[in-house]
Amino acid sequence: MEKHYDVIVIGGGASGMMSAGVAGARGKKVLLLEKNERLGEKLRISGGGRCNITNAEEDVRVLLKNYGDAEQFLYSSFSQFGVKDTFSFFETLGLPLVVQARNRAFPHTEKASDVVKVMTKYLKDNKVEVETATKVSRIVTEKGKVMSVVCGKNTYTADSFIVATGGVSHPETGSTGDGFNWLKALGHKVERPTPTIVPLSVKESWVHALSGKSLTFMKITFFKDGKKRFSKTGKILFTHFGLSGPLILNSAGAVGDLLQDGLVTATIDSYPDTTEKDLENKIIKIFDTNKNKNLKNVLDEIMPHGTADAFNKIIPSIDVETKVHSVTKDERKTMVKTLKALPITITGLMGFDRAVVADGGVTLTEIDTKTMKSKLFKNLFITGDLLHITRPSGGYSLQLCWTTGFVAGSSV
Ligand SMILES: Cc1cc2nc3c(=O)[nH]c(=O)nc-3n(C[C@H](O)[C@H](O)[C@H](O)COP(=O)(O)OP(=O)(O)OC[C@H]3O[C@@H](n4cnc5c(N)ncnc54)[C@H](O)[C@@H]3O)c2cc1C
Repeated sequence: MEKHYDVIVIGGGASGMMSAGVAGARGKKVLLLEKNERLGEKLRISGGGRCNITNAEEDVRVLLKNYGDAEQFLYSSFSQFGVKDTFSFFETLGLPLVVQARNRAFPHTEKASDVVKVMTKYLKDNKVEVETATKVSRIVTEKGKVMSVVCGKNTYTADSFIVATGGVSHPETGSTGDGFNWLKALGHKVERPTPTIVPLSVKESWVHALSGKSLTFMKITFFKDGKKRFSKTGKILFTHFGLSGPLILNSAGAVGDLLQDGLVTATIDSYPDTTEKDLENKIIKIFDTNKNKNLKNVLDEIMPHGTADAFNKIIPSIDVETKVHSVTKDERKTMVKTLKALPITITGLMGFDRAVVADGGVTLTEIDTKTMKSKLFKNLFITGDLLHITRPSGGYSLQLCWTTGFVAGSSV
């Protein structure tokens, strides 16, 4: 069976839905093919289910600084559809956005599933034909043009094709790298993906013991072979394998580089705005008012919130059953030093299965970023995570999907 369309979009994630809807709104006959049973699986888990849908930095020059080497390439696409446009687009769809700390914007309901809902309606309103549970197995080309896509026994032809199959992070959502393989086979230069926004695995069992706890104001300093490299301050999430949270995710790219050829360690300062002297005075005060208690009964007041139970593992040399008045000056100083520099050994980056973003993908020199059209195939457009663009967490990835999706949908 063969069917012909103006536009075929492969992949029903953020960028695929956007491009299909925009092309449909222009009156194009559009088919969206998605291999999962439903659209937007990765969108649904974005931002921990709340969906950090964009970053509210409205100055495009400032915003684009976050996209590394891609900055220059992205001006023309962001001038067609930028952050302001994302705000009004979702507002028009009945899902206004709210801005929270660090410029991160969320749907006002804070539900990623609502983003999928309004995007699905957008597709329907613009008469996009959606076929889920339909896996594209092959892209057929001839003389610099894409001719058709093959899905099992069916072949679909179109005038233009948008590939929006995503990258390789969290493959259970459907992003299994199919697009990378096709585009490479078609002659595109595809950079090898590496997880960039990804949690870190660490050796220390006290970290694993704190799994599920998060601490909002910590300073972490990374060292390579004992030499200080860089520090960041913010929220850290402890997990059963190591460390996560925005601060860690955004350090992972640089930590990955350090891990190439050396031992990477870190220290966490759990009182970044308190000097050692002030922290010691605070502990002395607590000890003075609780002289006859066991140390374990005052740890809640000394340790960062929720971490007292891990004290045994963090400083095994001090017995928590000791009476406070028997804690020696040296032990007190050890406590202060440790709280100001909790020692961590980084054993690696977690894999693609836990990565929020992996870089890699088609290099931007092979894309006309005014249209998102491939420079090798005149009717092939490429969007979203398929593009080799590094960026931090904070809404920048989804904004890239809305922008590239809009530009491709407007250009087909
Ligand atoms: C845990 C997590 C949290 C995140 N949180 C945020 C956040 O809060 N803010 C933010 O900006 N970014 C976030 N991101 C990143 C963001 O979700 C992605 O950048 C974005 O969803 C990528 O969209 P996409 O359209 O490029 O591809 P995807 O969403 O990966 O969609 C690709 C689609 O193509 C389909 N597909 C693949 N192969 C085929 C095939 N052969 N045939 C048919 N269909 C196929 C897949 O099933 C999938 O549905 C997060 C990512 C993860 C993993």
